[in-house]
Amino acid sequence: MLKRILYALGLLFFAIFTFLIFKNANLIAFIDSVENRTFDLRQNILISEGAKQANKDIVIIAVDDASYEYILDNYGEWPLSRDIYASIINYLEKQNPRSIAFDMMFVKSLKSKNKADEALINSFKKYKNLYTAMNFDNQSEDLRMPPKLPHKLTVEIDNSSQIKFDKLSFKNCRTILQGIIDATSNIGIINVSRSDDGILRKMPVVVKYNGEFYPQLAFKIGVDYLGENTSSFAIDKNSNFIFGDKKIYLDNDGSAILNWYGPAGTYTYIPIYKLIKIVNGEQTDLNYDFSNKIIYFGTTASSLFDIKTVPTGKIYPGVEIQATYINNMIDNNFIKKVNKKYTITLSILLALLIGSVVTRVSSAFTASLVSCSTYIIYLFISYYAMKFENLWLNVTYPLIFSILAFTCAYIIKYILKSRDFEQQYKLATTDGLTELYNHRYFQEHLRMQIEQCRRYDTNFSLIIIDIDFFKKFNDKFGHQSGDAVLRQVAQTLKKNVRSTDIVCRYGGEEMSIILANTDKEEAMSTAKKICEKVAAKKFKLTNDKESNVTISLGVATFPYDGENASELIEAADKKLYNAKNNGRNQVG
Ligand code: GH3
Ligand code: MG
Ligand code: MG
Repeated sequence: MLKRILYALGLLFFAIFTFLIFKNANLIAFIDSVENRTFDLRQNILISEGAKQANKDIVIIAVDDASYEYILDNYGEWPLSRDIYASIINYLEKQNPRSIAFDMMFVKSLKSKNKADEALINSFKKYKNLYTAMNFDNQSEDLRMPPKLPHKLTVEIDNSSQIKFDKLSFKNCRTILQGIIDATSNIGIINVSRSDDGILRKMPVVVKYNGEFYPQLAFKIGVDYLGENTSSFAIDKNSNFIFGDKKIYLDNDGSAILNWYGPAGTYTYIPIYKLIKIVNGEQTDLNYDFSNKIIYFGTTASSLFDIKTVPTGKIYPGVEIQATYINNMIDNNFIKKVNKKYTITLSILLALLIGSVVTRVSSAFTASLVSCSTYIIYLFISYYAMKFENLWLNVTYPLIFSILAFTCAYIIKYILKSRDFEQQYKLATTDGLTELYNHRYFQEHLRMQIEQCRRYDTNFSLIIIDIDFFKKFNDKFGHQSGDAVLRQVAQTLKKNVRSTDIVCRYGGEEMSIILANTDKEEAMSTAKKICEKVAAKKFKLTNDKESNVTISLGVATFPYDGENASELIEAADKKLYNAKNNGRNQVG
């Protein structure tokens, strides 16, 4: 019964704790940040194992530190004049690349640069595989801050939002050259969002702002690369973003979680100054085949500030994040984070498993070992789920729930064990019939009293009691009635001594009382009082009748009547014998 109540209480405690966890937003944020770190760890282990290979067809043309210096030395300023980009585009297009993308924004430049701008605009008119970026920011402010983008795109599945990416107005964006906007629809947004710890783990697919949808740059390039139709999209019940016959699983804020391929430098890098040299005739060949490649222009120079922290590195260029996104699209391996509902269900199952193991296994070592192994097996499963299924199984909640279950189960076990121990102890020290202390306890306690009194130089007394003519009583009224009387005599003794005095069943119908800190005189008067009380009491028999019994008592006091247990008992026995001889119902 108690066991069931305790288990119920344990479950209740477990539920309350769980509820408290989920009510505290700070705590959830903390747990989620720990979970994010475990994601980073899994990603890095997978990479170090060589489980993931970056696509060789993605090449980055980088404005790296060397190129930045080269440009400042040769042109005296950054940004680079747009006609140079136009020349580079012409050079690259001759080799038939799949796409050429700029993770850069061509914002308005000085009037004196109009001709150069015009050259780039003409490239966008001429080549359909050119892409460039735009960014949301709040233009009404002096400090250009990105506007707050809505969390989780709300797109109804049944009235699947019709969205034409080629009819974008690009309101609310930082103005780029109007000529480019007029020339091409290959423009994507490059806003990013980071986790609370500042690490970038995901990117939006499309961004919804002021009722309009804008594609993310890498998504736009990826869609075209895969030959999918983007005229309409939907998000299904399971948070899948559907485009054409493909889908991308979205996290709860509507972003796709990136699967990483390595630290910075995973993709092929070509410094842009080498291409500048070619178009300027300083160098003839690059020895690199651009045909069918996805070419991404971006800045990696530290002074150009397009550096982010991602799970695989503290310094990771924005352009490589774009490359990773496209790589995820091509490989169809974005990370699918397992829904919170399933995570909690899984955690509870794991907790119940661990809880039941702990309550069932008696050895603490085995219980801990089994619990730890269970969790470690779960860790392995989560690792392989990410490796083979791109699944992000939450490992933090299962850990918290497991520890909680382990603790709850252990507390319950401890309570049950200590109750068991108490019962065992009671069984070992008390007499079943009279519920007095038994002979063994009497002997132990007597010895202890003697030692204590020796040490503190005090005294105590011992009374031995024997029921008069009990044999006859049994013969007359039967053994059952005899037992009933024994019990009642025991109770009468208990009631008439102090709570510190120890009443024992010495054996048969003999009982003894150890009176702590009691001298002879006091002990004698207690003995007399008991004798009178018993004599005056009507004892109930089994047949509803009543009868009287009397007792004889012998008193001995330490240290006067004996210096050890057997001497004391002998002395008390002698007095008892005297009482019997003198006619019973008296103190000897
Ligand atoms: P006396 O006055 O000399 O003590 O006479 P007595 O008959 O009590 O003699 P004694 O103490 O030697 O007898 C003990 C009797 O107590 C024997 C037995 O019938 C009875 N007795 C001992 N233990 C129990 C018990 O647990 N239950 C019952 N009903 N009787 C018991
Ligand atoms: Mg006896
Ligand atoms: Mg007797």
